[in-house]
Amino acid sequence: DLYPVSRALISVSDKTGLTDFAAALAARGVELLSTGGTAKALRDAGLTVRDVSEVTGFPEMMDGRVKTLHPVVHGGLLALRDSDDHVASMQEHGIGAIDLVVVNLYPFEATVAKGAGYDEVIENIDIGGPAMIRSAAKNHGYVNVVVDVQDYDAVLAELEANDGKTSYALRQRLAQTAYARTAAYDTAVSNWMAGEVGGTPRRRSFGGTLAQELRYGENPHQQAAFYSDGSERPGIATAVQHQGKALSYNNINDTDAAFELVSEFDPADGPACAIIKHANPCGVAKGGSLLEAYTRAFDCDRTSAFGGIIALNRKLDGPTAEAISGIFTEVVIAPGADEDALGIFSQKKNLRLLTTESLAAPDAAALALRQVSGGYLVQDRDVGRISRDDLKVVTKRAPSAQELEDLLFAWVVAKHVKSNAIIYVKDGATVGVGAGQMSRVDSTRIAARKAQDMAEATGLSAPLTQGSVVASDAFFPFADGLITAAEAGATALIQPGGSMRDDEVIAAADAAGLAMVFTGMRHFRH
Ligand code: 5GP
Repeated sequence: DLYPVSRALISVSDKTGLTDFAAALAARGVELLSTGGTAKALRDAGLTVRDVSEVTGFPEMMDGRVKTLHPVVHGGLLALRDSDDHVASMQEHGIGAIDLVVVNLYPFEATVAKGAGYDEVIENIDIGGPAMIRSAAKNHGYVNVVVDVQDYDAVLAELEANDGKTSYALRQRLAQTAYARTAAYDTAVSNWMAGEVGGTPRRRSFGGTLAQELRYGENPHQQAAFYSDGSERPGIATAVQHQGKALSYNNINDTDAAFELVSEFDPADGPACAIIKHANPCGVAKGGSLLEAYTRAFDCDRTSAFGGIIALNRKLDGPTAEAISGIFTEVVIAPGADEDALGIFSQKKNLRLLTTESLAAPDAAALALRQVSGGYLVQDRDVGRISRDDLKVVTKRAPSAQELEDLLFAWVVAKHVKSNAIIYVKDGATVGVGAGQMSRVDSTRIAARKAQDMAEATGLSAPLTQGSVVASDAFFPFADGLITAAEAGATALIQPGGSMRDDEVIAAADAAGLAMVFTGMRHFRH
């Protein structure tokens, strides 16, 4: 299954590592064919190259739209080398075999990402490149196709080990990678166009590039890997890890949840901290300093915070790093870390520190996918946000200024808690989080119960839910949840409203002297 490489066609937009790779091929006696810009780069590096236009007898034309789309190229890629018929055709038409194709495509995704206009985006749809990739990949019985700069070394290593030949196993693996690349490329084109034409596309596909192989999935018997979608959004996919072992599947999922939540809090409005366990927050707080934000988030539920994931909305500093080092924490993610913090964490070998260049963009439009048997559920990510002006006071008493501020804070947190979500907040810090219960009243009870536990553990005379406010991610279907919250000491509530029994719920609020506002927006998160 070893097959020699005598002739290579190289046509790349990303010229990283190009000249070293091509020089190594040339040193093995491989003839190099190339297109305009690539040929120039190779000649500038002192290599001998033949222009594809010379081989095809046609100039590159139409602004580069037509360069390599020619039977001399595609015949040389597709011909079965051991078919008498194919070999006869090659001889008859003067087609030389091409054994290696090195192509990376016009930077379509980057062109969209930089906000280019329609025509520029269209011009960055590569046609000849994917055609060559697909021809070469189909004929992987003989032909090698390289679409990733990262694969240059693997090809050179095989040529070295096998006296200028490559194995079928390598060619097959390269072909699989190649089809994934062209699929992802067309996915990017189609997704971009979906946004341009609007509506629900008849067909949709989803692509990704391996970012990291994971030791296992949610459980040790499940294989797993992390694929990036190429969007380069700030967050878990683009974060830099400074120390500690590789992130696990669950770490990545939880760190994403933590960072998306903390990014809701504009650093200009003050420091904020979120602590996440199993994708739900067990403490979220603002503070006068980052240290205070962390400490108050931690005080919401110190039991659950053990082994948690911490996200900060500002650069990690020394005092906060020192405090975090006090208990076992899996991951810390922040938009940067100062020298003091780096020094303190370097003593904690098992702690993973990730930094990002900026916070995530909570209002950036994107698709959210979920797999079900036989298909995908696709929706816009939840970028819903409300402001004071959107709130409707429905009770006799209107919330005070402090209550209102806490209600809005609680509402943002509720968006990031699995339904049914109930959040108690006091002075810009969660004091009870009820998540993922099948009934809303249970979430209300559990959150209050946890606050009670914290009070007992820390010797407080009363739980912090006394004088707190409560957010509910969806409407209260009955008054019982609201009554439970009032019994725990809540004085104000925020919820979407819209239940058949809103009147009953509002009456119960008035009877208990609570202030309540409706948002008109729901934040289910299943
Ligand atoms: P160069 O920098 O060598 O002038 O162009 C390299 C790029 O051209 C590569 O990204 C390659 O995929 C692309 N390419 C090669 N042949 C064709 C073609 O016939 N049509 C189009 N549109 N792009 C091509």
